[in-house]
Amino acid sequence: MPRPILCTIHPGALRHNLERVRRAVRESRVWAVVKANAYGHGIERVYDALRGADGFALLDLAEAERVRALGWRGPILLLEGVFEPRDLELCSRLGLWHAVHCDEQIDWLAAHKTQQPHRVFLKMNSGMNRLGFAPARMRAAWTRLAALPQVEEVSLMMHFSDADGPRGIDAAMAAFDEATRELPGERSLANSAAVLRHAEATRADWVRPGIVLYGGSPDHPEHDAAHWQLQPTMTLATRLIGVQALDAGDTVGYGSRFTAEAPMRIGVAAVGYADGYPRHAPTGTPVLVNGVRTRVVGRVSMDMLAVDLDPVPGAALGSEVVLWGRSAGTGAVLPIDEVAQSCGTIGYELMCAVAPRVPFAVEDNGG
Ligand SMILES: *Cc1c(COP(=O)(O)O)cnc(C)c1O
Repeated sequence: MPRPILCTIHPGALRHNLERVRRAVRESRVWAVVKANAYGHGIERVYDALRGADGFALLDLAEAERVRALGWRGPILLLEGVFEPRDLELCSRLGLWHAVHCDEQIDWLAAHKTQQPHRVFLKMNSGMNRLGFAPARMRAAWTRLAALPQVEEVSLMMHFSDADGPRGIDAAMAAFDEATRELPGERSLANSAAVLRHAEATRADWVRPGIVLYGGSPDHPEHDAAHWQLQPTMTLATRLIGVQALDAGDTVGYGSRFTAEAPMRIGVAAVGYADGYPRHAPTGTPVLVNGVRTRVVGRVSMDMLAVDLDPVPGAALGSEVVLWGRSAGTGAVLPIDEVAQSCGTIGYELMCAVAPRVPFAVEDNGG
């Protein structure tokens, strides 16, 4: 028998979450953001469920090729644009739309030979100071782009730094409105947090949800995924391959970081940091055994971790262990956001980090 770890992707939940976005922004077209190999899910595994979107947004050219290879003929947007001039050849060949965030990218376009004028999204820096033109430079960049024979149509985009938090979107919206008031073209503003928290204020031609499609709450712990009516799209599960009875004073794992205060049973699950489970998950990180919530104890090792079996007296060798997602046995859900919070990170990072050695399946279970 192979090692029992498995990462299962749930297409029904992906469809549900896409529909949830549509309900929030009825008039907008939806870019399904599938960067980072669809947030670790695998582009090929999510494609059927997400092809109801109006386009796919990503940033790796090889991923764009994979979406075209799946038969997608609709829009694909490169969120960071091209990284070097010759990338423009692939854009022409595959009909990719691309962000333009700096003068060099305009220079490259101006020198690009093509029969296929490009659709571009001119990106404004709204205060995050990652990519984009300063508000005061948008008009000049737009004018330059719009005059190029290589450009078919110029749209406008920006990205919020604080749509999920108390600073909110007002300053970024004001800067964008002011800088682009007189510029024609379609607009794309909202990420997941803006779609769910600020749908009215950020209304635009296109929205760009990522994490909500994958069932993560964009503003955990203020709101959890259930509050936003999102369903988990990824389950990382394994089984118990060992059970130990401890006496008071016995310790668990490398560094003896956990000490039993009283006699207890622990289970040893076949998952570790080489599978992408965070090594820094502390004692107390939630986990489901046979659908019952319990906790990780002691240090996570490369291929194994230990769980407290006191809340699950029926657990035995072979019992199901869910690290995040939905228990196939009981339907119980452990939100990835709670696991991430316990580890001092966000659900996005855990999804993206599932290691290549973990086998994947595509299947709906109990959702
Ligand atoms: C990743 C990304 C998104 C999606 O963000 P979520 O928080 O996952 O919704 C949208 N726009 C851009 C430019 C991005 O890089």
